Amino acid sequence: MNARSGLEHTESTLFERGVPGRSGMQVPECRDGASAIPESLLRKAAPLLPEASEIEVVRHFTRLSRMNFGVDVGMYPLGSCTMKYNPRVCEDAASLEGFAGLHPMLPADRVQGALALMAELEDALAELSGMSGVSLLPAAGAHGELAGMMVIRKALEARGDARKKVLIPDTAHGTNPASCALTGYKVVSVKSDEAGLLDPAAVAAAMDEDVAAIMITNPNTLGLFEKHVFEVAQIVHAKGGLVYGDGANFNAIMGKYRPACLGLDVIHFNLHKTFSTPHGGGGPGSGPIGVVKDLVPYLPVPRVVRGEDGTLALSDAFPESIGRIRTFAGQFLVMVRALAYIRALGASGLARVAERAVLNANYVRARLTGKYHLPYPGTCMHEVVFSDKIQAKNGVHTMDIAKRLMDYGFHPPTVYFPLIVNGAIMIEPTETEDKATLDDFVAAMEAIADEAAVQPDLLHAAPTRTAICRPDEVLAARQPVLTHPAS
Ligand SMILES: *Cc1c(COP(=O)(O)O)cnc(C)c1O
Repeated sequence: MNARSGLEHTESTLFERGVPGRSGMQVPECRDGASAIPESLLRKAAPLLPEASEIEVVRHFTRLSRMNFGVDVGMYPLGSCTMKYNPRVCEDAASLEGFAGLHPMLPADRVQGALALMAELEDALAELSGMSGVSLLPAAGAHGELAGMMVIRKALEARGDARKKVLIPDTAHGTNPASCALTGYKVVSVKSDEAGLLDPAAVAAAMDEDVAAIMITNPNTLGLFEKHVFEVAQIVHAKGGLVYGDGANFNAIMGKYRPACLGLDVIHFNLHKTFSTPHGGGGPGSGPIGVVKDLVPYLPVPRVVRGEDGTLALSDAFPESIGRIRTFAGQFLVMVRALAYIRALGASGLARVAERAVLNANYVRARLTGKYHLPYPGTCMHEVVFSDKIQAKNGVHTMDIAKRLMDYGFHPPTVYFPLIVNGAIMIEPTETEDKATLDDFVAAMEAIADEAAVQPDLLHAAPTRTAICRPDEVLAARQPVLTHPAS
């Protein structure tokens, strides 16, 4: 097998187990003895596929699935990604035939229920954020950022204001500067203060009449609440700029306060993170945006509109809109899951989610501080960022700690992000882990810290108990081997 990517521990593949002529099915003979497919379209040689029986195929894929890790298997504290447990009731809703079988080109009169679901979800997100208008169209958080920045650009241009720069704190997710660049803005990085927070003085110094907006993530990627956000918004607004809110961390605050009340003009939501859609491995996401009243005319189209008789439709008739940003009406089944989740929990349930998420992160913070270096001390929100500073003295680094956690049955945290923390270990337990699981996780992290002090080589070799051990990650990314040599 391919030793370079570390696959030598896998069991034999279907190609090796297969036997020529073996099959899991019987294809009936053509009734009149001749194929209906013209001779010119027929294959000249059989395809190079493994020839295997049904049970061999079932066992092969079941075996592969057991080499995988997901939140249904164990705790998945991947910071910033909110890998919470996704309730099965949301999956049930999304797999209802009337939703799952919808064709995107059906006329409005055939999909009134689906449009009502979208309208209700827009209202719920507007209520949670304090925004006046919501578009469900963006396909992911990053796409929401792009759409939101395009809205800001269009709104400023409409008042004859072609500004060129956007302020972004140095703690921001990489998608923020990327979205700005795609919108045609120059990124100006703003340094955080010693507490890891946005510094109003630094924003004031960078703010001028050429700055279109500031992008703020609150809580930020250090898991800290940006307590100067209101003051920062006032500074930016005073010079005619707008405030973009990266709402990927909404899990920490939903139901507790409305971001619009702190001066945000635009916010995106990551439905797949906060509102329960399984999203490891790059499955479909959804990144709706909410905007304040003045920006509503610029939202992307189509928008859900209600006619005088109460019927719903999708409309492109918004002349000031930034236009279409994707095909059809968005990731509909992610919206179904999100509304099911919101309706199942209700207002008080959503607030309790935020409370539990913050409590769990602070429990981990309190238990592990000392064993691990905490670069920004104090209460955190939904995630806590440690560093490898203590372990690095013994030559053990963040990657070794992350790999060793897999031997203890946990998915690693996010590593080496945010960039302003050397050797960052970013842990987001989420609200769906109970205290016993958090205690197991803490015990594993403590054991790893002890191992790092006396047996550093054990960590350099980790993981040793997983199907695939430590691959050469650079080579695996640059020269991926995606096909079996036999094919
Ligand atoms: C996840 C995340 C994003 C991007 O969202 P995607 O849905 O992955 O595109 C942006 N900002 C922050 C802070 C995030 O955690």
